[in-house]
Amino acid sequence: MSGLEAVQIRNPHATLRDGMRGEKKPAGRWAYLTYPAYMVAFMGLSWWCLDRGFDSGIWIPAVTVSSFVVILALEQIFPRRPAMNTLRDWQSINDSAHGVLTGAMRPLGTSLGIVLLASLNELRLGTGVEAFWPSGWNLALQVVLAQFVVGFAAYWVHRSMHEFDRLWWFHSIHHDTEQVHVLKSGRFHFMDEIYGALITPLPLLLLGVSTEVVVLRSMWQVFNGSMGHANTQQRFPSWFHYLVSNVDLHNLHHSTERRYQDSNYSGTPIWDLLFGTFNHPDRCESVSFGIAERYVPRGFFSQLWFPFRAQVTAPQATESSA
Ligand SMILES: [Zn+2]
Ligand SMILES: [Zn+2]
Repeated sequence: MSGLEAVQIRNPHATLRDGMRGEKKPAGRWAYLTYPAYMVAFMGLSWWCLDRGFDSGIWIPAVTVSSFVVILALEQIFPRRPAMNTLRDWQSINDSAHGVLTGAMRPLGTSLGIVLLASLNELRLGTGVEAFWPSGWNLALQVVLAQFVVGFAAYWVHRSMHEFDRLWWFHSIHHDTEQVHVLKSGRFHFMDEIYGALITPLPLLLLGVSTEVVVLRSMWQVFNGSMGHANTQQRFPSWFHYLVSNVDLHNLHHSTERRYQDSNYSGTPIWDLLFGTFNHPDRCESVSFGIAERYVPRGFFSQLWFPFRAQVTAPQATESSA
């Protein structure tokens, strides 16, 4: 198969496989509280663990896993799209396995990034940049600024994975899901994770940002990533979509339609607005998730191998089902 044909597999005009139609259930006004209340609980607990000096190798995985369990319970009690359910999705087993593997791979990517940064410093390309970071600011403000900076790097990392087929084959593991729920926030091919972990922390490392800020910013990403995929009732005022990525924005990114799939890349929507890839959820709706044509295999080990094989032979679409 030629490269052109490979691109056409992702063409929205190709025959669409019937994705799961997950209509949204109307949410009451109380759903405006879900996100802020959970944010205060999650970030408050993370800050407390950090402040008490607990072993980060223990509290970070403990808080992350506990949070997944709580969100899983919220999904069962207050489902956003009742047709979708983490516990009735066979791919949840693969999602969990990918999540564990990528969690293990993240330090490897970050270490490679540090090696790269050290080399840059050796070349005297990075000296003096630390002076620009406002280390005297309040911790919360530094975390917000850090997220803004990381959002820029993450935007281009994510966009590159959508625009270059050789990277897309790795990222397609995250998108090949007809259901979107909390476990999808950990469903990444380990090479996708290493690529992101290698590039996105570099600006913060270059700026000499403190460990506290780096850790809390990472915990924000865990919180926002899991709530951004959570199939539980959440509501937001319209203006909020311009400030912070959330489940409404990210559901569009999981759409089978390319015009939505190739948008809303960053956790900080201002970068999508600036670079012309922002879609406001109040003006767009998509209830069909996944990739239009099925070519990602169903098995876990096949999914690990698939992007490497695709580098040699572009994949053929199949109609195998879950
Ligand atoms: Zn994506
Ligand atoms: Zn996602």
